[in-house]
Amino acid sequence: MRKKTILVTGGAGYIGSHVVRQLGEAGHHIIVLDNLSTGFREAVLHGELMEGDTGDRPFITQLLREHDIESVLHFAAHIVVPESVSDPLKYYGNNTCNTRNLLAACAAAGVKHFIFSSTAAVYGIPPNMECAEDSPLAPINPYGRSKLMSEWMLQDLAAASHLRYGVLRYFNVAGADPGGRIGQSTPKATHLIKVACEAVVGKRDHIDIFGTDYPTPDGTCIRDYIHIEDLAHAHILALDHLRGGAPSFTANCGYGHGYSVREVLDMVQQVSGAKLDIRDVPRRAGDPPALIARAERIRVLLGWSPRHNDLREIVTHALAWERRL
Ligand code: UDP
Repeated sequence: MRKKTILVTGGAGYIGSHVVRQLGEAGHHIIVLDNLSTGFREAVLHGELMEGDTGDRPFITQLLREHDIESVLHFAAHIVVPESVSDPLKYYGNNTCNTRNLLAACAAAGVKHFIFSSTAAVYGIPPNMECAEDSPLAPINPYGRSKLMSEWMLQDLAAASHLRYGVLRYFNVAGADPGGRIGQSTPKATHLIKVACEAVVGKRDHIDIFGTDYPTPDGTCIRDYIHIEDLAHAHILALDHLRGGAPSFTANCGYGHGYSVREVLDMVQQVSGAKLDIRDVPRRAGDPPALIARAERIRVLLGWSPRHNDLREIVTHALAWERRL
């Protein structure tokens, strides 16, 4: 049987490009749609890159029809929590409205499977640090709300059509391709491990810790950091799962344990041998104290079994990429 083509939006970005690489290695036909606002042409190692926007309905409709797209993986989004606080409409526009636009085009074209990049930010401040998929959904920033609205649209559309979806709620994604071909290249990075690696290679003269008075053991925020390679693999399994006829699902993508900001910075210093200028500063807007995944569902449902569940390895790969940049 001829392999059906997969559309990957945001496939030139950090997470999308790693998924495209794994899809390509598995022999899938891929079209990448990216407006290159934060993505990079050279990060797309497989498939055909189309420059365009998920908000451009005629373009998307034509693309879906022309390539007879059966499955869509939707990564294109803005992802910076503090920016979502200062410029919320940017997030509702690109993350929510454009997802609606894409979904409308998918529904009209009869797309069967939709895999959506969601986020742990949909949980807000979990009462006991841990979030299961059925924990209350109470995002505390526009980024999380923009993604949750998209989850709801997907659920409602799936109930009213033949579309089946996989929602993957990412915890803190970090690291890079162990083969060193791609990594996180975003300028003006805000994510902790990336920022720390930039400090190691001299792109920054210091690193701030945003908040040291959180109700956590060392006072800094705790996150569940997941290696990009394991996260990307979850998408391959999610696609196979839906293609095999499975019903729609939502699953956390995390390891089920967390590290504080200080622990992460300690690891970056250990791995690099560099002594960083670390400064304690006030809390940043929109940060929950701790976010850790309950991570059973993805293992049971998809047979996912992480291969890089190790902070040292995550930091080592992130740093190797930063040095290459
Ligand atoms: N953080 C920090 N300094 C930085 C960047 C991040 O202290 O330069 C903290 C941030 O406040 C949060 C944690 O690191 O507690 C993870 O933040 P990041 O932006 O990496 O991911 P988020 O959890 O916001 O998606």
